[in-house]
Amino acid sequence: MVVGEMPESVDFLVVGGGPGGYAAALAAAQLGRQVVLVDGDGLDGLGGTCLRVGCIPSKALIEFAEHRHQGAAWRTRQVVEGDSTISLKQFQSWKDGVVADLNRGVRGLLKAEGVAVRQGRFRFTRSDQGVLSRSEEEPPEHLRFKSCVIATGSRPATLDVLPFDGHRVLSSTDILAATEPPRSLVVVGGGYIGVELGVAYAKLGTAVTLVEAEERLLPALPAEAGTAVAATLEQLGASVILSARVSGDRAGTLHLEQRATAIELPCDRILVAVGRTTNTDDLGIEALGVGLSDRGVLQVGADLMLTDNVAAVGDVTPGPALAHKATAQARVAAANLSGSKDLYSPRATPEIVFSDPEVAQTGVTEAQALAVGIDVERAAFPVAGSGKARVLGARSGHAEWLIARDTQVVIGATIIGPRASELIAEATLAIEMSATLEDLTLSSHPHPTMSEVLHEAAAVGLGEPLHVPRTPR
Ligand code: FAD
Ligand code: NAD
Repeated sequence: MVVGEMPESVDFLVVGGGPGGYAAALAAAQLGRQVVLVDGDGLDGLGGTCLRVGCIPSKALIEFAEHRHQGAAWRTRQVVEGDSTISLKQFQSWKDGVVADLNRGVRGLLKAEGVAVRQGRFRFTRSDQGVLSRSEEEPPEHLRFKSCVIATGSRPATLDVLPFDGHRVLSSTDILAATEPPRSLVVVGGGYIGVELGVAYAKLGTAVTLVEAEERLLPALPAEAGTAVAATLEQLGASVILSARVSGDRAGTLHLEQRATAIELPCDRILVAVGRTTNTDDLGIEALGVGLSDRGVLQVGADLMLTDNVAAVGDVTPGPALAHKATAQARVAAANLSGSKDLYSPRATPEIVFSDPEVAQTGVTEAQALAVGIDVERAAFPVAGSGKARVLGARSGHAEWLIARDTQVVIGATIIGPRASELIAEATLAIEMSATLEDLTLSSHPHPTMSEVLHEAAAVGLGEPLHVPRTPR
């Protein structure tokens, strides 16, 4: 150590202010720890990717696009007259207000718990120490911590043949800030972001083409999910190109290869949504004496501990990159760094694609169950059998329970249809509590609501449905 590097002692350090980081800071403060949270963007960074350029802005855009789309649908039904649509520019200023409001909320929560927030990028230099760099001009601060949570999250992954330029080749962050819908948009990547934003922009009147490397959209989810979303995209006039990869972009034309056939796609804008890269490359992680996976993920187990005094949460950990996962892990990490022996090992983590129809999955899929030798039964009810779905104008989709044949306990669920994003919480609770189909049918589900599809799917499994014909089990 050289003179001027005298470290300041910090009891509990949190690196990153996203849903993993700010939740870890709050949980640690509630356990009586003196917490300092550092984020590259300081107070403005609170809420992280999720609040600033992820979950909230994308769901706001999806609601806006749906509102526009529904407005048009009601006008064709001649129920609404005239056109009082607001522009994407007006939407952006409203959305920025929502984000700023929520950011202020997080600031208030941290202040109330006595968490100090500092601006700067943190880098480990020793197993219990690191430097916080604010800017080129200011000298870095040296911080020595008793406990530390790494919650540095992730950023959009890039394609070598299609680098982001913020003008033609856009990341999700860029397109979520757009004030004019492009005339034509090619979305490269048919996963969560590609499908959510592709459907939204198609509803805003953009000519959308989705390009996916695998054989179907949403390849990580059950096959029916991709098929259902592809059908909506087709109705919206969008195109889907599967099993294709980008080879280059020249003179306003995107070049693809699909099973050794060249395709040329002239377009105004390109959204690249091919996954996320973890923010672990510039953290000095080697100073902790641990390694990264080749995908830059921190290799933690269910206790989330990386070393005796450092834990990791959120997108930097193995498994899905989801805000609710990060937040749930935050409590476990704060507890384990404060003397508890807790585990993050949910039976079910809901995964939702806010597309049209909405797709939600929780617990295990049939393929995952079969891979570990669990014999399963399926019990499904079609959305078309729901009165509420018809009121909402939906006819396609289904709710399905996956049941372990020997115990008759529910272990998974998939919902495709309206409000799937809300309904999946009941399915997750049922799995966590080892509910049986009988438990589910004995619980009253209000009418007319979409929740009835879960009740009816359970009744199908018991061979006693009321709203679809009985079939032998
Ligand atoms: P982040 O939210 O990424 O926060 C990390 C923070 O760390 C940032 O503020 C960053 O500035 C800071 N940081 C990074 N490195 C350093 C450093 N060295 N020093 C100091 N600070 C640092 N998830 C859902 O569950 N539901 C959704 O609907 C959803 N929609 C999404 C839509 C989009 C378009 C995107 C991109 C993501 C979406 N996600 C969604 C994923 C969700 O945003 C992430 O899983 C979540 O934000 C991860 O939280 P985190 O705390 O791990 O990291
Ligand atoms: P993703 O992993 O969901 O999907 C990326 C898709 O791109 C995959 O289908 C993949 O096969 C495809 N792909 C990869 N390389 C390609 C190429 N060269 N050409 C064409 N296709 C290619 O990633 P994403 O959509 O960028 O989202 C990142 C993560 O953010 C998600 O995995 C999810 O964890 C999170 N997220 C969650 C939500 C939500 O919870 N609703 C919404 C958005 C993002």
